[in-house]
Amino acid sequence: MERSTIVRVHDGLHARPATRFVKLAKSFESDIELVKADRSVNAKSSVKLMLLGVKENDEITVRATGADAIEAVEALIGYLENPNSGILEDGAAEAAKPAEKKVPLGPESSSVGPGSAGKLRGVPASEGVAIGLAFGFFPAEIKHENRLLNGDEIPGEVARLKQAFAAVQDRMDKSLAATNLAESDRGIIAALKDIAGDDELTGAVAALVDGGIDAVSAVIGATSKIAADFASMDDPYLNARADDVNAVGRQICLALLGQDDANLDAIPAGAILIAEDIGAWDLARAPLKRIAGVICGHGGATSHVAIIARAHGIPAVLGVGRSVQDLQHVNTVALDGNSGDIFPEPDQATADRFHKQIGKAESDKQALKAYRDVTPKRADGTVIEIAANLGSLEEIEAAQDAGAMGVGLFRTELLFMRHIHLPSEDLQAETYATLAKAFAPYPVIVRTLDIGGDKPISGIDFPAEENPFLGWRGIRMCLDRPDVFKPQLRALLRAATHGNIKVMLPMVSGLDEVRAARVLIEECADELKREGKAYAAFDLGVMVETPAAVMIAPMLAREVAFFSIGTNDLTQYIMAADRLNPTVAKLNDVTHPAVMAAIELTAKAGVEAGIMVGMCGEAAGRPDLIPSFVKMGLTELSMSPSSIPRAKKCVLDLETASQGR
Ligand code: PEP
Ligand code: MG
Repeated sequence: MERSTIVRVHDGLHARPATRFVKLAKSFESDIELVKADRSVNAKSSVKLMLLGVKENDEITVRATGADAIEAVEALIGYLENPNSGILEDGAAEAAKPAEKKVPLGPESSSVGPGSAGKLRGVPASEGVAIGLAFGFFPAEIKHENRLLNGDEIPGEVARLKQAFAAVQDRMDKSLAATNLAESDRGIIAALKDIAGDDELTGAVAALVDGGIDAVSAVIGATSKIAADFASMDDPYLNARADDVNAVGRQICLALLGQDDANLDAIPAGAILIAEDIGAWDLARAPLKRIAGVICGHGGATSHVAIIARAHGIPAVLGVGRSVQDLQHVNTVALDGNSGDIFPEPDQATADRFHKQIGKAESDKQALKAYRDVTPKRADGTVIEIAANLGSLEEIEAAQDAGAMGVGLFRTELLFMRHIHLPSEDLQAETYATLAKAFAPYPVIVRTLDIGGDKPISGIDFPAEENPFLGWRGIRMCLDRPDVFKPQLRALLRAATHGNIKVMLPMVSGLDEVRAARVLIEECADELKREGKAYAAFDLGVMVETPAAVMIAPMLAREVAFFSIGTNDLTQYIMAADRLNPTVAKLNDVTHPAVMAAIELTAKAGVEAGIMVGMCGEAAGRPDLIPSFVKMGLTELSMSPSSIPRAKKCVLDLETASQGR
């Protein structure tokens, strides 16, 4: 029995849609094959199925032989013809990033004597000082054992392998059963579990062990082959599955070696996190309250790890370079997020100095709490809104506690990075509405997706670019991908019924981009109207973060409701200095007269046109610059929540000083 059809499943048989298809196929007794062009695979193996690379609009044949062949073909064809197959459960379609391994640097680690590792220097990325136990987060390298087995060793090795597979599956089951698991994480684990149980993988590993290869080498060999197959597919979703297969292989090897793959959850309270690099998403979901400081080999002051660290008031030194490896063997480390200094195994005098500074910072923080509910004003009575920059709903509480007068920048990237599929319109509408409700009556400014080749997301195929920061990112990408942009605009229009949502476009460099976005917004509003869904108009603004936007600011100001100056990007573009490159960190200086002049030009254009001018780059929270920004006419400053009380005090001090004159 066989039938052919055109696949309508949105984005084809990737990840979850593939594993759900396999689950459905497995519910029938018949042998089932899926045929595409001249290739056919067993429809009961998700790995094989994914490697077939079935895309939306491909012609496919389902072939079944067995007692329930007719029912099987009917059900599977029905599945393939439904655009929403497999993606209805949001988050369940996740797959994983490669697992990471922390190397605990506890007292048993070999210790270098006091000060002998020498002072290190990195880029000061999040202010404040910290001292604590070093906690290394470095992926452990798993090596081939390269043992050739004697015939009589093989049964024992096969048994060991079975146990390792079972242990990994068991661990994944336990994680899935945890009630506190976020839906998106559940999806990641479910996708990994599907791979760990796939016949294609288990069969390939077992065949290698049967042939006399030790289990660890067999797992590495089989998983790297399957991963290479995924990596060579012409499809970004399927390329990402290579990481999943490697992650599963890694778990099985660790089980064989009797090692645990620890993660950031194990970080002890008050520890200093040390890593070569940490994904923004990994850090965002780490137990941040327990992390006293962050040191990374990569990154710079405006990289997203720095932004997350600042959002949580965690001192950080990034861009340390290769010498971060030297810190793998220290017990205690002190770091100064203001100067970029790092002291491995600090001597007593240094430790005392750090403890004293931490004590002072704590009492300053307590004293600043008095400013939480202050409404700072300019001398003429104009309110200066001190708002929060947020990247996820988890940060709402910290912003409210700090006294945020709304949200000046909600970065929607994390929402997109969290999910292997693009977040649905409904999920987005709910997220934006939650923010609106949390901060009402203050405004909440949501920035439309600002993502590019430097940090790609699943579901958008980014071309390889020589200079991703000068490439297809932000509004440029969104306008080319209405299938990505429109659901976000529709979600924003729906959330705008709460009355306090504003929207801003990132990376704008021309009027035509604003106009094209407006056309799409109107199109979305018409659609919602026709569908009978509630929506409301919102104020549309732009981020001023390209030199082009500064130069045309007077024209832009006539087209939009507000400006928000993005000093992180504006600085890198004005200074032609990559914000992530520690070697040019010195040039990445917002106080450079060229950058300050650009800010002033923007403010002047906005003030003359009578629109609000705010700032959401990291400079907005700097007490040394706030007086200049207020003088230039900025009336909104949006920053990491931890900087809010100090910024309020700063504006209030200005007001008090002007009254005393
Ligand atoms: C900026 O560029 O200043 C900004 C706020 O945006 P991001 O740091 O997210 O690029
Ligand atoms: Mg920016």
